[in-house]
Amino acid sequence: MEAARKEYAELRARGLSLDLTRGKPSPEQLDLAGDLLSLPGGGDVKAADGTDTRNYGGLLGLPELREIFAGPLQVPAGQLLALGNASLTLMHDNVVQALLSVVPGGERRWADEPRVRFVCPVPGYDRHFGVCERYGIDMVPVPLTGEGPDMDVVEELVASDPTIKGMWCVPKYSNPTGEVYSDETVRRLAAMRTAAPDFRLFWDNAYAVHHLTGERVEILSILDACAEAGNPDRAFVFGSTSKITTAGSGVAFVGSSPANVAWMKERLLKQTIGPDKVNQLRHVRFFRDTDGVTAHMERHRALLEPRFAAVYEVLESELGPLGIAEWTRPKGGYFVSLDVPDGCASEVVRLAKEAGIALTPAGAAFPYGKDPRDREIRLAPSFPSVEEVREAMRAVAVCVRLAAAEQEAA
Ligand code: PLP
Repeated sequence: MEAARKEYAELRARGLSLDLTRGKPSPEQLDLAGDLLSLPGGGDVKAADGTDTRNYGGLLGLPELREIFAGPLQVPAGQLLALGNASLTLMHDNVVQALLSVVPGGERRWADEPRVRFVCPVPGYDRHFGVCERYGIDMVPVPLTGEGPDMDVVEELVASDPTIKGMWCVPKYSNPTGEVYSDETVRRLAAMRTAAPDFRLFWDNAYAVHHLTGERVEILSILDACAEAGNPDRAFVFGSTSKITTAGSGVAFVGSSPANVAWMKERLLKQTIGPDKVNQLRHVRFFRDTDGVTAHMERHRALLEPRFAAVYEVLESELGPLGIAEWTRPKGGYFVSLDVPDGCASEVVRLAKEAGIALTPAGAAFPYGKDPRDREIRLAPSFPSVEEVREAMRAVAVCVRLAAAEQEAA
């Protein structure tokens, strides 16, 4: 305990200022898409079919861009829409539209139900939970198993409770644990019996091509699995180029069954005269084809891999021998999830803050911001430099050692 206190005092005295909260691309990653900013140029602004991209129209997005992302997002191009700049907006809109207008297969609007609940695999993405909280949708947490959500629990919940209308899923390299859903999990999600006829999976494939190792993990296509199981309208699939080209000015996609696409189109017709096709054309010219996306993601990987390696290296050397923490080693995505002893996560985050290291608030990855075991900390190493990641992680290790020693002594 004394040793842990002393090293923490030394850490504080250094007056560091580091940040591991931001799951966003580093400036070097954004530079990879530098050429995008000078495309399409003033000369040729026509899409493949001759459409002038500067003008109104093209409600569902440029077909050639939809072709490029059809494979990575596992949605046929004709059922994949290329829309605005953020997939979160599309997820939010689909939830709101389901509240306000009957989805295919439904009997009434979700807003007319006495209660609406969503299954939320935990830990998960805080902004998904934020959408539910904003609209009074109750969240039912379900643990992740390493192969996706615990399907025994999910199947029982959705079969018995007609108020469960939806479920958030990040099926590949999930935020924050790096979870990849197994084929069996995908099949069970597609085939499970649901008490609500208008139940929907919100399949957020945000990290579809964001590999961190030489193994490019593939998952089953949820749309194919749903169609095969006789539930063709069960899933909405989302994705974007936010962490491929430029975060905030990329292109977002949503795909689904023909019936769901028709339902979304009705809304879009009222919402817009068409998306930003100039930006979409820019993306087409930049990538050229799906292989262009794959090659580009390799360049991201070259920048991200050493940052993740720095996290593991420090955790292993500083905490490994003590057996007081566990962490994920994701094969893709943007995060490492660190589990400290139960009841210690808030204290670690507090100690780190006092020492000048910003960490994501404990509990952020859980509905209502509450981690029942107060043990999970989300680490985001993409933005700082490799040396900053190493420095910040050494500091985190000092804080974990002190929090664990304090708890032991209490
Ligand atoms: N979905 C997940 C799982 C994310 O982690 C993020 C960003 O961190 C997003 C969606 C945001 O995507 P977009 O920029 O397309 O809104």
